[in-house]
Amino acid sequence: MPGAAGDLKYRRALVKLSGESLAGNRGFGIDPPAIEELTHDIRRVHGSGVSLGLVVGGGNIMRGTVASARGMDRVSADYMGMLATVINAMALQDMLEQSGVETRVMSAIRMEELAEPYIRRRALRHIEKGRVVIFAGGTGNPYFSTDTAAVLRAIEMEADVIMKATRVDGVYTADPETDPEASLIDEIGYLEVMTRELGVMDAAAISLCKENALPIVVLNIKRPGAILAALRGERIGTLVA
Ligand code: UDP
Repeated sequence: MPGAAGDLKYRRALVKLSGESLAGNRGFGIDPPAIEELTHDIRRVHGSGVSLGLVVGGGNIMRGTVASARGMDRVSADYMGMLATVINAMALQDMLEQSGVETRVMSAIRMEELAEPYIRRRALRHIEKGRVVIFAGGTGNPYFSTDTAAVLRAIEMEADVIMKATRVDGVYTADPETDPEASLIDEIGYLEVMTRELGVMDAAAISLCKENALPIVVLNIKRPGAILAALRGERIGTLVA
């Protein structure tokens, strides 16, 4: 069971991992050592007493918009993307369970041999019992993203915060991977993120956060301990609120 949660600012969190974070340096597919690295941090967060849900993307395997731009039917491509998130969820589950964390995968698309169907009340029950719930299958609908799925699940599980794990330290004034002038923003409002198109999450996801006053912390998954530090209220990454 998780430990004492006394020094935490946020006690229940939803962590959104991109599909790419499971791919390691190759940038596509599944790289078990990369996942193992991710699980160290998740295990520590869980061990500190935080109630934890995870949503993982599918971009390391399939992205609907990219495949449809190259000739595939958008809806078919989106369903393939949702299935990709199930593959990723199972990889995460395997590595987390190997490190001693009890988990459940709950899928928005029914496939009972592999994962429980997503039922909100059951998800809450798992979380209350100290299990890490990995929400797979996105929202279950085409034309959405796993960012939107993450916000939706965060609201449904009454999370205090959503942590968006990225490859950079937070939200920048421009793309830090291409623009050397880009500087890190400590804190910013939902509306400004939308109007300046800062690419934190898609507009549907941000507006859902805004309507429900759900804070987002954007942080670098490559920095060990970043998630736990942010949960303790340290100034890590960018706070969108
Ligand atoms: N997807 C979808 N509906 C959802 C969530 C995801 O159709 O509710 C599809 C969509 O095609 C998307 C793909 O699944 O491109 C993979 O998810 P995403 O691109 O959000 O993954 P990430 O960028 O986080 O790896």
